[in-house]
Amino acid sequence: MFQFAPLPAIETMADDSYCDVLAVVAQCDEPLTYTNKAGKEVTKRVMHLADKSGKSIEATVFGSGATDDRLQAHADVVLAIKGAKVGSWNTKSLTLWGDTHFEPNPDTAEAHDLMGWWRHTGCSMQRAHISVSGGGGGASRDSPRILFSDIEERAMGMNGTPEYFSVNCFITHIRTDQRTLWYIACPNCKKKVQGASEDMLDGHCEKCNAPTTGTRRWIFTGQCNDPSGSRYVSFFDDTAVRLLGGRTADEMAPTKESDSSRFDAHFLKHSFQRVVMKCQVKSDTYNDEQRIKVSCQNFEPLNPVAEGRRLLAEIASMGA
Ligand SMILES: [Zn+2]
Repeated sequence: MFQFAPLPAIETMADDSYCDVLAVVAQCDEPLTYTNKAGKEVTKRVMHLADKSGKSIEATVFGSGATDDRLQAHADVVLAIKGAKVGSWNTKSLTLWGDTHFEPNPDTAEAHDLMGWWRHTGCSMQRAHISVSGGGGGASRDSPRILFSDIEERAMGMNGTPEYFSVNCFITHIRTDQRTLWYIACPNCKKKVQGASEDMLDGHCEKCNAPTTGTRRWIFTGQCNDPSGSRYVSFFDDTAVRLLGGRTADEMAPTKESDSSRFDAHFLKHSFQRVVMKCQVKSDTYNDEQRIKVSCQNFEPLNPVAEGRRLLAEIASMGA
């Protein structure tokens, strides 16, 4: 037995609640298969659903439903969904897990009526995407607050375009035995200087097509932990200098040679910072293997008052 909710009603539903939906598949991506952190292959498929309200909502199908042949782009499919999970992922969205029941083109008067509307009016209509009411507890729309485990669960960064998020975490460990902690950069364009070495920073910049004297720029990964687990995050020069208390790679490079324990101690001293970090996540291919790379765009020390307010707003929105 379905109890369909019109799409605009979802706008005010609390995250993690469930609803039944009868809607047209207005847009449908190809299924995407990826390997999650547990080494398991997962398939997901993103759709946009629309109904007569003129609103649309993103719905993601996980599991075997994602490869259901009856879900096709431009195929004019009406879906009856039982128990889709409501969430606010950037905007309000629905998730259909592997055990969520959905029925393409159910033979009911309501479904035929909806398809009739879609063919005559709906398909050419300008649709408004359902948004998070009340601003989602202060989460910035372009970088939603997540846990590290969400990266795998939501297959973030896998569709070719970088995605952004923020996370409340500890930067726990920066390995100083990494092959490189910095590179020698053109001061003008920041590209790697060709022919430069630790003994001789002079070389040639291919981009500027000119001889130049390079400066060292930090580039390293740090282990970051949040309650869901840990993640290696890349830090580039701007964030790395701040992370290391204002010390540049040029300043610290001689210490690594002359007194490596002092060098290591400086990194250790700046570990275990609790921060709210804005990150970019994207995939790249290395030796035919697809990898997810997370890099730090910016970070701020955790502000307990602001964080407390954010949590209160989130709790309040759960009861809405
Ligand atoms: Zn250059």
